[in-house]
Amino acid sequence: MWLAELQFRLVSDTSYSQAEQQIRQYLEALIFQGQLIGREFPTYFASDHFCSRVILPAEDALITQHHSPRGQQALAALPEAGLAYPKLKLLGQDLMSSHTDPCQPAEGYILFTNFAEQVSPLRCSAHFAPVPLYRLGADSTADYEDFIRWQLQYQALDEIQMQQQRVLPKSAENALQQLHSKLNQQGRQLARRVEKLSGKSCYYYLYSGSSQDCSQEASKQCPGCASDWRLDGSWHGLFQFRCDHCRLVSNIAWDCQ
Ligand SMILES: [Zn+2]
Ligand SMILES: [Zn+2]
Repeated sequence: MWLAELQFRLVSDTSYSQAEQQIRQYLEALIFQGQLIGREFPTYFASDHFCSRVILPAEDALITQHHSPRGQQALAALPEAGLAYPKLKLLGQDLMSSHTDPCQPAEGYILFTNFAEQVSPLRCSAHFAPVPLYRLGADSTADYEDFIRWQLQYQALDEIQMQQQRVLPKSAENALQQLHSKLNQQGRQLARRVEKLSGKSCYYYLYSGSSQDCSQEASKQCPGCASDWRLDGSWHGLFQFRCDHCRLVSNIAWDCQ
């Protein structure tokens, strides 16, 4: 990931609120295309320009070829709000975050997220490194907002179920670990969309936190098709189960490890 600044110079008469609103729309379009990572972008005003601090998944993430139609529109609307096209200043590599996947394109994918990592929910199946969503190419449904919104809800529930004093004792965990929860239905549909767009397989990670019987946990069956899905060892050091038919991966329940 790269830490960068986007500068929007004032070029004609505008109001503060009009300029700010247009910058916000542009940044939002970039988020929903996977071109920016995270949600909060401190923005300040300095003499003749606005400046936003952003995190990019790759050095070239913001080139306009990666923009969604919404991103192109928001970019084209900047001059109407009195702003020049943005100037990018790369500040350096973000040392705290994972490295973006080197494959272009990846041979396969895993849809995976958790509360702790602010990266793309799409991973390369060979390296388990985050893949920027825009690398899937232009989506006919315009952009990847559904992926980002799914990820936000997933992370919120994961955050809750990680707490000692949970405010939702069981329901957050159920949403994460039951195959047919609304969250996992949405996630699996997104994985199918990745397959359609890329022509490659995309596994969906099914969280497993607790088990009713830890002695049976290692021999549990695939919840999708009831087949034996145990791997020898583990994949990416995380997954002990994989079903190629249902394109699911999972782990031995954390409470049983
Ligand atoms: Zn890779
Ligand atoms: Zn299965």
